[in-house]
Amino acid sequence: MPELPEVETVCRSLRPHLLGRTIERIDVREPRLRVRVDERQVKKLAGKRVESVERVAKYILLNLTDNNVWLFHLGMSGKLIATERDTPHQKHDHIVVDLDDGRQLRYHDPRRFGLAIATQADALGELAQLRHLGVDPFDERLSGEYLFGFTRASDRRIRDLLLDQQIVAGLGNIYANEVLAMVQVKPTTRSWRLTRKQVAMIAAAIPELLHDAIQWCGTSFSDYRDADDKSGEFQNHLRVYDRHGESCRSCPGIIKRVAIGNRSAFYCPGCQK
Ligand SMILES: [Zn+2]
Repeated sequence: MPELPEVETVCRSLRPHLLGRTIERIDVREPRLRVRVDERQVKKLAGKRVESVERVAKYILLNLTDNNVWLFHLGMSGKLIATERDTPHQKHDHIVVDLDDGRQLRYHDPRRFGLAIATQADALGELAQLRHLGVDPFDERLSGEYLFGFTRASDRRIRDLLLDQQIVAGLGNIYANEVLAMVQVKPTTRSWRLTRKQVAMIAAAIPELLHDAIQWCGTSFSDYRDADDKSGEFQNHLRVYDRHGESCRSCPGIIKRVAIGNRSAFYCPGCQK
């Protein structure tokens, strides 16, 4: 599932293909995504030019002329791929966009949990998807005090609290586990047990980790690819995620997996107490 570093990587890889390009034609081949694609709204974007490509949490915003915005979420398996028009269509290419340079942008999503919503810039704040988002991990408002305000009063396990998009927007299970490994906190720890100092370390580690992951173009386990269909490489640098049974990179311990709710958490029993 693409998390913030993967979505940021997709945005960066889309820009050379999309900035300044005008959309000529949009073909919605399969509208049944997580929310049904409103074909009438989407088709109104034909004739508009791409002015910027922006990431908000795990959403990709194509800002178009005349205040139009095309918002994408990659869901579990979505890809936005820039390609030549004569590249054969693949099964699960659900939206095909003709650009004025003769190339195409294709939204591909086997599991169809993604989103493609056409809206206006001034209506963005009203979208249910964006309205309740917490702070971005790179926003300076993500401080130890901000996070401590949530942890001190919460009985939730810290891994789950970090997954709450209304607190920090953009962390998923991979990076929540990795952040806790960086600061040597066990993912099953009840949030209220964490000291102010530990929480400050978590807050500081979040942007540091995500910055590193972006440098490696994100983590690719299965579906995730950037706009040029390239994989990320951060999976080779993970400390704990999906490494159960393997050796810790900093002590003789063996990484363990434990279920919290229906999602696995990973930690080193030697480093994270
Ligand atoms: Zn260790």
